[in-house]
Amino acid sequence: MFTNRKTLKSRPRSGVARRRGRAPASRGSVIFALLVASLLIQSTAGVTAKQATGATPFSGERAFDYVKELVEFGPHPAGSKEIERVRKYISDHLPNAKRDEWTAETPEGKVKMVNIVSELKGDTDEAIIIASHYDTKPFKDFTFVGANDGGSSTGALMEIANTLAASHERHHFTYRFVFFDGEEAFCREWDECGKPNAPDNTYGSRHFVEQLRASGQLKKARALILLDMMGYSKLELGRDDMSTPWLVDIIWKTAQGLGYSKQFVERAEGVGGDDHAPFLQAGIPSADIIQLSTYPYWHTREDTLDKVSPASLKAVGDAVIASLPRIEDRLMKGGEDVRPPTNVQSR
Ligand SMILES: [Zn+2]
Repeated sequence: MFTNRKTLKSRPRSGVARRRGRAPASRGSVIFALLVASLLIQSTAGVTAKQATGATPFSGERAFDYVKELVEFGPHPAGSKEIERVRKYISDHLPNAKRDEWTAETPEGKVKMVNIVSELKGDTDEAIIIASHYDTKPFKDFTFVGANDGGSSTGALMEIANTLAASHERHHFTYRFVFFDGEEAFCREWDECGKPNAPDNTYGSRHFVEQLRASGQLKKARALILLDMMGYSKLELGRDDMSTPWLVDIIWKTAQGLGYSKQFVERAEGVGGDDHAPFLQAGIPSADIIQLSTYPYWHTREDTLDKVSPASLKAVGDAVIASLPRIEDRLMKGGEDVRPPTNVQSR
């Protein structure tokens, strides 16, 4: 289960200016310096302890290590050889990972796709789904590793799944951690090659919802929290205007209560389409945690590991984990304000 988790390497803390070298000092100045130092240590200890521990045991460093290894696999678009290795890596680092395999019809013909699902049972089989896509966007003219787009959310979701599995806290709803294949379009643009009822994107999430419907489980899926591009070191997440407002509200207020107001900001984020669209269309309350409009490296060769930070991964991990009890309360009270099926505009 957790045997494959990597040993954490300690990473240097940034932003701390240190002086090098030594100068001779008088006794008095040494005592004064010690006094100042102890005061400084006391005051920074409070701040760093709060920032480092956060609200939950989610480790930003471990999530970052997952992202790093995902990036090291290189580009792994749906249908590629490399994505099979990524699947194995994700499955090996998850409790009870299961594969759901199918063949998708794409502009490039039939492509084998696999969603990976890890489940943590609650008191009921009604489920809260937390998801990310793990494929990277195919580009033929440059190398695209998708550190933030695909990598950050996949690493964060792996750490969320492991953190919750290790907590042994009782919860009413079953948690399902789902890693979607084929979110990215095969064609260059999101809706360039789509046909009515057959978009060229979100293959994994559409398949997942179809499976829920076919097996009569649709009503048991009570909410979706989607992560996508949430690891940028200058993280600034607006409220996706397509998502279910009450769900977004719980997550944003929880995050702000934890001190993440700089990361979870009060502005609208226009996303247009993402893996939550099929869930919204099926009437399942959904929230997309995504930084699209202010991420400068989106779908460029510069979407590399140096753009992602452990602190950003932790902000989102903490926010999601701390929101779960509140989301469960809201769902149990039956107050969910399910939006009518959205007429989803693609982007
Ligand atoms: Zn993308």
